[in-house]
Amino acid sequence: MLSNDRGLLFIISAASGTGKTTLAERLVQTLPNLRMSRSYTSRAARAGERDGVDYNFTSRPEFEAMVQRQEFLEWADVFGNFYGTRRPDTEKWLASGQDVVLVIDVQGARQVKATGIDHTAIFVLPPSFPILESRLRGRSADSEEAMQRRLAAARAEVGAYVDYDYVVINDQLEPTVVRLQEIIAAERSRMHRMRPIAEAIIRSFEK
Ligand code: 5GP
Repeated sequence: MLSNDRGLLFIISAASGTGKTTLAERLVQTLPNLRMSRSYTSRAARAGERDGVDYNFTSRPEFEAMVQRQEFLEWADVFGNFYGTRRPDTEKWLASGQDVVLVIDVQGARQVKATGIDHTAIFVLPPSFPILESRLRGRSADSEEAMQRRLAAARAEVGAYVDYDYVVINDQLEPTVVRLQEIIAAERSRMHRMRPIAEAIIRSFEK
C-alpha cells in the first residue's frame, strides 16, 4: 500500500480526569501504525508505575541538564514537576514512518505549535465540570487540597481548547475512541500530506 514516508504527529491534551491516557492507550492498541511517546518526568513514580514503561523517571538535575542540551521538543512544569518529550525519540519514529501521539499538557502543545512542526492537536473535554469532578473523586486517593489543585488546574486549562484543531467530548469511552480513530484517518488523507503520493499516481497517467 502506498503511504506517506514520514509519520504524523498527534497531540492529545485534556484536564486531569478526562481519560486522555486511557483514550491514547486504546488508540495505540487499535491502530497499527501509531505509537505513544514516552515522556520524561522529574516526578516520583506512583505505586504500580514502571520506569521506561509509564514514563522515563529522571532526577530534577538530570532533567535540567537535558533542557540545557536542548533535547526536548517541548517540556513544561506541571503541578511543580517537570515533564518533557525528548526530540530524538519522536523524530526517530516519525522518520521511520510511524505515527506518534503525545499526551501532553496545554503548555507543551503550545511549544510544539511554535516550532512549526507538522502536527494535529486534539483537545478532549469531559461532558461537564461536575462530571469531571465526580470522576476525579471516584478514582483518586488525593487529599482534598490536591483535589482542589487539580480542579483549579482543570478550570484554567479547558479555555485553551480553542487553539486545538479538534475537540472531542469524552462521554463514553468506546465511541470517543472511534471518533479519535476517525480524526486520525482523516488527517492521514489531508491534501498536503497525500500530495507526493497523489502526484506519483498522476504521473502514471501521463503518456
Ligand atoms: P501525571 O503526573 O498525572 O502523569 O501527568 C500530569 C500532567 O502532565 C498531565 O496533564 C499530562 O498530560 C502532562 N504530561 C505528561 N507528560 C508530558 C510531557 O511530556 N510534556 C508535557 N508538556 N506535559 C506532559
